[in-house]
Amino acid sequence: MEFLKKWFVPILLSICLLAVLLDSKTPTKVFEGDSSHETIVVSNTTESTAGQELVVSVLMKDGTVNEMPIEEYILSVVLREMPADFEMEALKAQAVVARTYTFRRMHIKQRHKNAHVCTVSSCCQGYWDPSDYLQSGGTEERIDKVRQAVMETAGTILVYNGKPIEATYFSCSGGYTEDAVAVWGSNVPYLKATQSPGEERAGHYTDTVQFSVDAIVRKLGISLNNLHDFRIGKITYTDGGGVDSIEICKKTFSGTQVRSLLDLKSTAFVISVAGSTVTITTKGFGHRVGMSQYGADAMALTGSDYQQILLHYYHGVELLSIGAFY
Ligand SMILES: [Zn+2]
Repeated sequence: MEFLKKWFVPILLSICLLAVLLDSKTPTKVFEGDSSHETIVVSNTTESTAGQELVVSVLMKDGTVNEMPIEEYILSVVLREMPADFEMEALKAQAVVARTYTFRRMHIKQRHKNAHVCTVSSCCQGYWDPSDYLQSGGTEERIDKVRQAVMETAGTILVYNGKPIEATYFSCSGGYTEDAVAVWGSNVPYLKATQSPGEERAGHYTDTVQFSVDAIVRKLGISLNNLHDFRIGKITYTDGGGVDSIEICKKTFSGTQVRSLLDLKSTAFVISVAGSTVTITTKGFGHRVGMSQYGADAMALTGSDYQQILLHYYHGVELLSIGAFY
């Protein structure tokens, strides 16, 4: 016992010193994207908080590139991408998703030559500078609420097998999200179809559009001698309730093709023909892969926190601090 008492502190200090030395030899962290050519090296820094000091270069609409701290950028993204009157836990989930998306664009899949991201929602993520937000009718209280969601999750991203995930999100699923393979043809283990209840208050929970047979034949590129011969054939469905394939006048289309050609809100649709009118009713709005924003808000309203929301929509992922990559 005397021996232990005498040497306990020196031995402990030696172990700590050894740990520090070993850690300083840890090689520069490397992570990979979906294929080997996307392997990116993130340089080591000595600061454990380096992740929160990241600077994002943002291509603005006027063509200039603004550099800003990542959390400042995420505030502007969340202001644009999710209504500030959504529940705090939904806003936090959105902040983590936006940050994860940004981190991937910075280190794995950069789309722009001189900037990490742009401010166009259909390309990267939407963006609302707080001053523009105020001029458009937003309030300081709403900005403060979104800022709280951003700062309380600062530096947190989603990873799968240690790599930042492709954190896709959309407005409303219509009750069930879609599997990535059904929309983009590639299997992504964390982007699986899952139920998403409580979205009924979303503006586009269901939508109905009508076409004349003449218009629909033109839009789909079908040649038909007699419009009275217009027929809907076999329809198959995806795990997420979307149309996987549909036979129209003996021509087979994928659900995503029909959505694109007819500019439908989603691939989850039912179609009917009465006389010379075709009626299509869709459920949900967007590609329906990943996190449903209205679904996230519904979960928050029933007591789920942002971590539970994220783990529901992204299967098997973990939350990790950006600092772990530096
Ligand atoms: Zn872009």
